[in-house]
Amino acid sequence: MIYVFGSLNVDFFMKVDNLPGPGETVIGGDYFIAPGGKGANQAAAAACYGADVVMHGLVGDDQWAPIVLDALAEFGVDVSAVATTEEAGTGYASIMIDARGENTIAVASGANLKASADSLSGTDIGPDDFLVLQMEVDFDANWQALELAKSREAITVLNVAPAAPVPDSTLARTDYLVVNQIEAQTVAQSMTASGMEEMAIALSKAHDLTTIVTLGAEGALAATGDAVFHVPALPVTAVDTTGAGDAFIGTLVASLDEGLELKPAMERACIGAALACTKPGAMPSYASHAEILAAL
Ligand code: ADP
Repeated sequence: MIYVFGSLNVDFFMKVDNLPGPGETVIGGDYFIAPGGKGANQAAAAACYGADVVMHGLVGDDQWAPIVLDALAEFGVDVSAVATTEEAGTGYASIMIDARGENTIAVASGANLKASADSLSGTDIGPDDFLVLQMEVDFDANWQALELAKSREAITVLNVAPAAPVPDSTLARTDYLVVNQIEAQTVAQSMTASGMEEMAIALSKAHDLTTIVTLGAEGALAATGDAVFHVPALPVTAVDTTGAGDAFIGTLVASLDEGLELKPAMERACIGAALACTKPGAMPSYASHAEILAAL
C-alpha cells in the first residue's frame, strides 16, 4: 500500500506565447482547470500504474475541492482520509505554459498548510508500505508524518519539491530522497561535489539513504552509497512538462511497491514521466501501466 501525505490543488492553466516578466502583461489563448498539487499528482500517477494508494491531506470547503477529490477517486485513489476545513480554501495553482512547453507556476497553498499528519496514526501503515511526502504542506506536519511512518518501519520517500533545506533528523528517517538538480543542491547545502553523481553519492552516504536525481530530458540517476547508475529519458516531443516529476515519483514508488528492483523501477518512472510531457496538464497526462510497459 502507498500512503501519500501532501498537497491537493486545483491547477489553472493558461497558454501564452512567452512567459511574462516582472511588471509585464501578456495576452494568452486557451485556459483550462485541472486537478493538481504534488501530493495528489503523485498519488494519481501511482494509482494510474495500478498501485493501491491512500491520500492524506486537507482541502477547503469550497467549489474547488471536488475537482481534485473526484479526479483522484476516478484514478482509484482512496480519498476517504482527506479532511475538509472551513478555515482555508483548497490549494490553488496558477500555471502559465509557453509555446516551448516551459512553465511558470505560483501556488496559493491554502488548506495544504493546515494539513495534519494525525490521520496517519490511525492507519495500519507498516513495514510493507510506502509513505510519500513532498514539500507543499507544513514542514513540521511533514516531518511528523515521516517520524510516524519510520516508527512503523514503513519505507519513506521524500521529494524535496519545492526546494527547501531539510533537517538532518528528517533525512535520517528517509529511505529514498528524490530531487531535481536544483533541489539536490538545496538539500546538500555546503557539501561540495564535482557533479550530480558525486553529489548524489555524498547525500546517500551522509544520510544512509538512496538518492534519486531527476535530470529533465537527460533522465535520472540513483546513488546508494558508491553504487550509482543513470537511466536515460525516453525521447519525446515535450508539449508540457508540468507534473513530469510527479509522474516520475508516482510510477517509481508504484513499481517498487510492485516488487521491482530500483533500476527497472527507475526505467518505468522515466517512461511515465516522459509520456506525461507529451500531453498538457499534470494528472490528465499520466500514462497507464499498459502504456508504460508498451514503451519499455
Ligand atoms: P522537475 O519537473 O520536477 O523539475 P525534471 O525536469 O528533472 O523534474 O523531470 C522529471 C523527469 O521527467 C525526468 O527525470 C525525466 O524522466 C522526465 N522528463 C522531463 N523532461 C523531459 C523531456 N523533455 N523528455 C523526456 N523526459 C523528460
